[in-house]
Amino acid sequence: MSFASLGLSESLVRATSDQGYETPSPIQSQAIPAVLSGQDVMAAAQTGTGKTAGFTLPLLQRLGELPRRCQGVRALILTPTRELAAQVGDSVALYSKYQATSSAVVFGGVKINPQIRTLRKGVDVLVATPGRLLDLHQQGVVNFDALDVLVLDEADRMLDMGFIRDIRKVLTLLPAKRQNLLFSATFSGDIRKLAEGLLNEPVQVEV
Ligand code: AMP
Repeated sequence: MSFASLGLSESLVRATSDQGYETPSPIQSQAIPAVLSGQDVMAAAQTGTGKTAGFTLPLLQRLGELPRRCQGVRALILTPTRELAAQVGDSVALYSKYQATSSAVVFGGVKINPQIRTLRKGVDVLVATPGRLLDLHQQGVVNFDALDVLVLDEADRMLDMGFIRDIRKVLTLLPAKRQNLLFSATFSGDIRKLAEGLLNEPVQVEV
């Protein structure tokens, strides 16, 4: 099994070999073709399984394939914490190094003005924690009209941290026609309820 055989383009395969990855991890083998197919995905995956590349690599490929609808963010990745946002942002930057995709990371607890300046320039992939994202949206600097893909990463932790209202608010800002990817370590009743409202006939991935 290779990254190329999962359907990833040459530039993304090259980015994985630059990282020293030889073969896809089990979550990647399942999630990458599912995301590339354009379907919604519900994945049960712990940290350390390679889940970040599991959604980032195919997401980057989809952005290359889909025509841009208009100006604005094309992929939104929501994470529970600033540390995870920064890590995911680093992965996006690493894997997109051979393509013309811009990305940014925004989270709370730091000054908002530099983030406002970054977003004004326009970004393709935005990694964000929910509260700061809503603040930035209120400032009028985030436009979701071009959104193709939404990722909820570590959704169970987001619910544990009380982000459900913020998440639901974010969902009201997004175009109805989009691909949704939900990654969670566990699938409690609350996550299933969120998934039911969010995902449309999802491909289920479990490792
Ligand atoms: P994650 O579960 O996304 O936090 O990834 C855990 C770690 O595994 C990260 O340090 C990645 O760089 C690494 N990793 C991801 N995919 C692979 C792979 N296919 N082969 C080897 N290492 C990987």
